[in-house]
Amino acid sequence: MTAEILSGTAMRAAILDELRQEVAAMRERHGKTPGLATILVGENPAAVSYVTLKVRTAQDLGFHEIQDTRPETIGEADLLALIARYNADPDIHGILVQLPLPGHIDAERVMQAIDPDKDVDGFHPLNLGRLVLHQALFPPCTPAGIQEMLLRANVPLAGAEVVVVGRSNIVGRPLSIMLGQKGRGADATVTLVHSRSLDVAAHCRRADILVVAAGVPHLVKAAWIKPGATVIDVGVNRIGVNAATGKAILSGDVDFEKIRQVAGRITPVPGGVGPMTIALLMRNTVRAAWRHLAMAG
Ligand code: NAP
Repeated sequence: MTAEILSGTAMRAAILDELRQEVAAMRERHGKTPGLATILVGENPAAVSYVTLKVRTAQDLGFHEIQDTRPETIGEADLLALIARYNADPDIHGILVQLPLPGHIDAERVMQAIDPDKDVDGFHPLNLGRLVLHQALFPPCTPAGIQEMLLRANVPLAGAEVVVVGRSNIVGRPLSIMLGQKGRGADATVTLVHSRSLDVAAHCRRADILVVAAGVPHLVKAAWIKPGATVIDVGVNRIGVNAATGKAILSGDVDFEKIRQVAGRITPVPGGVGPMTIALLMRNTVRAAWRHLAMAG
């Protein structure tokens, strides 16, 4: 068996087309466009490349886009003041602070300073609480992108055995909650495993849908895969630099080449979950703008 490759790039294009229509409708009805402020602190190369992608996509959709880059040395109070300014700006509907932040800044305090109505990353405790209660306003973008991908690929979820490897607050934990909830794109039986789980391979072998978000290159082997399973590789690991292009060489968390001979569907790295994360960030921003317009009456 050779697995079907689930292309996040193609799905992103479809989602962005849908959003373009929404943005046009918003402009026509209200004379407004979604506004996104992206705050980048320092020059971490991975963070810079993520922000560049996000900014380009927002511009491509015709958003009112502000990219605010601050030096590594910015103090926490100044960063909080900047967030307060965007919180108060009626033309900004979404605020994104790119992680990681430098060590002298308390990232949790910064995330909590973002107005929950503008928290398009979905990391504010209030939004994570809403997610747990199945009332999410802004589901975190990577888990939401994975759920959307499963839906668009018509992967059966109701009753499916889902195993999620990794329990971070931005990927594994919220995804495990979302896929176990009642309703469309969910209703799965979910197992969440982590570095202290006793036999990760045995859990993976039970999975109809295996999602791996561990940050360990090639952690998951072909022998861990149930034949025909859907494998979603979230990992983005920089394993070297291409001498000719100077670009980072990326690897996922699964042994793609061998697993594609066993699995039914698999996502590539790059071109799988990453593009979906960006698409869902844009969707959350459009949603935030509609909410703002509705509240403004
Ligand atoms: P993280 O915060 O470092 O969490 C990693 C999780 O994996 C932890 O829960 C850890 O367990 C678990 N883990 C580590 N080694 C393991 C092992 N050998 N067996 C089982 N579990 C193991 O990572 P993250 O932020 O969720 O990111 C994970 C990966 O996804 C990274 O490569 C990241 O770059 C990528 N990512 C991609 C996107 C995207 O849009 N494509 C978005 C976010 C993240 P413990 O809790 O026990 O330590």
